[in-house]
Amino acid sequence: MRDLISDNEIENYVKAGQIACKVLKEVESLVKPGVKLLELAELIESKIHALGGKPAFPVNISINNIAAHYTPLPNDESTIPSNAVVKIDIGVHIDGYIADTATTIALNEGYRLLCEAVKYALEKALGVVGPGVKFSEVGYVVEQIVRSYGFKPIYNLSGHSLDRYLIHAGEVIPNHKDRLALGSFKSGKAYAIEPFATNGRGYVREENIATIYALKQNPKKLSKMDQEVREVFKYIYEDRKTLPFALRWYIRRFSEERLRSAIKTLIENGLAMAYPVLVEIDNGVVAQYEHTIVLTSKGEKIVTTLCH
Ligand code: MN
Ligand code: MN
Repeated sequence: MRDLISDNEIENYVKAGQIACKVLKEVESLVKPGVKLLELAELIESKIHALGGKPAFPVNISINNIAAHYTPLPNDESTIPSNAVVKIDIGVHIDGYIADTATTIALNEGYRLLCEAVKYALEKALGVVGPGVKFSEVGYVVEQIVRSYGFKPIYNLSGHSLDRYLIHAGEVIPNHKDRLALGSFKSGKAYAIEPFATNGRGYVREENIATIYALKQNPKKLSKMDQEVREVFKYIYEDRKTLPFALRWYIRRFSEERLRSAIKTLIENGLAMAYPVLVEIDNGVVAQYEHTIVLTSKGEKIVTTLCH
């Protein structure tokens, strides 16, 4: 059978995966109480660049009841609290081919079991992934394992298919028994499998704050914007296309005030979107593990584990 994915594309996924894997391993031991989130984020992203990759999204450092989508703000003074449960979610891309991976570091012994549950759920979930397997199979395995440990999966967070320059490429891989997940895994495609679990109710809600944004392409609307706003759009688009970005990446080029005001206008006009910070609705503590798997006719590669 001929693949719908070329050797060159597979190679890019593998390279991106190796970088993400290496960086995550290197920074795990640096997660300690008192460390500034901003310094940790900048270190992670500089390591990605140094290894020849680019961030597919700003590194997410999400603590305790924050499940996802927190990246440090410009001049962020926050530090890792003692006893924290810290999720680090890294995305690397090579020429648009994305590897997405995450781990959880529990600085509190009391949450070791929560982490173990999710790690084991991911391992078993990856074991069932293959061409023709239904997405719902993964959800079944994840929920079964997470519940056997006495926790709940996060029902409204899921894994996803990946495509060139697209982190969420349309397919949703549930983390629970979802009879409506009718799709199935296909050869020649890449997927991120990412179980989350919590000691809370098992749902996240959007906080009224965003730290991550992405542009949306619409030349007609853009031409109607003020010069000031167009300039910000063009500068970021050149760098990111429609991939997510953080404010801190551009405050050397534009002031934070100008950046925020331009992005606000872009959002109001459908030319950008914000990713709100996601928190567990009961303020339950959340753990997450994630790997990216590429399915080919020659077999499958879990590309974010290839750095041993
Ligand atoms: Mn991720
Ligand atoms: Mn993901």
